[in-house]
Amino acid sequence: MSDKNIDWNRLADELDPMRTVTSGGQLRGRSRDFSWYSPILDVQLKDCIANLIVFPHSEEDVMRVAACVARWRVPLTVRGGGTGNYGQCVPLQGGVVMDMTELKRVIEVAPGSVRVEAGARIGELQEAVRASGQDLLMFPSTLRVATIGGFIAGGYAGIGSIRHGILKDRDNVRGMRVVTVEDNPRVIELRGADIQKVHHAFGTNGIITQLDLTLEPAQDWLHTITLFETYGDALRFCTEASTPAVDLYLLTSVEKGFAPFYAHLGERFPLNRHAVFAMVSPRSIDAYRALSARHGGVESLCMNAAALEKHGLPPAYECAYNHTTLQALKTDRQWTYLQIAHAQPFDIALCEELARQFGDEIYWHHEFAKQFGEYQVFGIPLVRYTTPQRQYEIMRVFESHGCATFDPHVVTIEDGGMKEIDLAQIDFKRLADPHGLLNPGKMRGWDELAA
Ligand SMILES: Cc1cc2nc3c(=O)[nH]c(=O)nc-3n(C[C@H](O)[C@H](O)[C@H](O)COP(=O)(O)OP(=O)(O)OC[C@H]3O[C@@H](n4cnc5c(N)ncnc54)[C@H](O)[C@@H]3O)c2cc1C
Repeated sequence: MSDKNIDWNRLADELDPMRTVTSGGQLRGRSRDFSWYSPILDVQLKDCIANLIVFPHSEEDVMRVAACVARWRVPLTVRGGGTGNYGQCVPLQGGVVMDMTELKRVIEVAPGSVRVEAGARIGELQEAVRASGQDLLMFPSTLRVATIGGFIAGGYAGIGSIRHGILKDRDNVRGMRVVTVEDNPRVIELRGADIQKVHHAFGTNGIITQLDLTLEPAQDWLHTITLFETYGDALRFCTEASTPAVDLYLLTSVEKGFAPFYAHLGERFPLNRHAVFAMVSPRSIDAYRALSARHGGVESLCMNAAALEKHGLPPAYECAYNHTTLQALKTDRQWTYLQIAHAQPFDIALCEELARQFGDEIYWHHEFAKQFGEYQVFGIPLVRYTTPQRQYEIMRVFESHGCATFDPHVVTIEDGGMKEIDLAQIDFKRLADPHGLLNPGKMRGWDELAA
């Protein structure tokens, strides 16, 4: 779509005085994200590079960019921190990449809610709400780099999900302001269920400029590591700990194969033990310990965030969700990962059978969370990469056991997690992006309708 004859410097002049980049290494740098987690996407996306990067500072700037790309009919890919792992913010067809990280004001912190600009880094937002004695309901482990807009547009769940469910769950996100891409851009305010029209749409049907999120009273969470002799014991403990009687913010289990990637934890995660990482409310720590002891669990660490920092130790959430994969990849790039949701009720015997079947080809990692009011177990297994065919064979085995797979080796919303075309999101795209300029190639349903 992006015409090679376009004079990108002239287009940049139209955006003046906004900062723009039309040449040099930044073009490639700001066109990359964490899709290198997938050896398949790493190859597929390596030549996808923006022609121009722009850095708006305000919603008015965003509207000027939207009007400009509509006039020139060039693709526009919105970028937050660039930590997505499906190539969500890689410009498949070149064009303009809009870096949102200067739209970072925390507008208002009130009891129970915060209004914030979409480009704010989640870590900085968390600090701002902490100052009011409150916490975000959930965040990804990439909070230092990832933006809140990128999390809502590209993310699914995270640390906090065992308490509050997934992003899609009711009232976690209360409202958003969305800028349309047309000759005369408009601002549309979405609230309640309407948020789903834009949430997890990979920036294909509107530019989020502001968000209104629910907060909860802050707690001084205890970050713990508990060791188990068998992975089955670790899973049995986590299943029993998934109850409202134990107040948790995170519950993650990993097989002992992960221990070499966590060498900095030393004897807190030795090579011969399986580990459960958790964030536990101080008022539940006794119940948590009693339950883990019943499954042979031995605590090797229990500290609050301040003590961890003092001892130079990582928070539990850096040993959870896709940070586990990152630890492995930092040591050895032959690994990749898959993502599954287990059928309910969670079948531990099946997990033990799969572990036997795949042996050293897979190291198991499970996240215990809630979704739509029910406890749910997500698997993020680390997989030794050989060929694309093998990745899909493994996914078919998981599916044959009733697991839902979220393919991490594809770029479209539908082929990754969602599985079906979301007509409400497509309808909203007709309204907010009538020329189909936003992040083209990522919404398969739109392309199929256009064809
Ligand atoms: C180590 C690691 C751990 C992770 N853990 C989690 C996790 O726990 N949970 C989870 O859900 N994800 C996780 N992810 C994926 C990713 O980090 C999160 O989704 C993250 O929040 C994305 O934020 P970002 O600002 O980096 O977004 P980007 O990667 O920049 O963008 C993500 C998508 O959102 C779109 N977008 C960005 N900003 C806007 C905007 N203002 N308006 C419209 N569209 C926009 C982009 O076009 C893109 O499609 C993880 C990734 C890594 C590498």
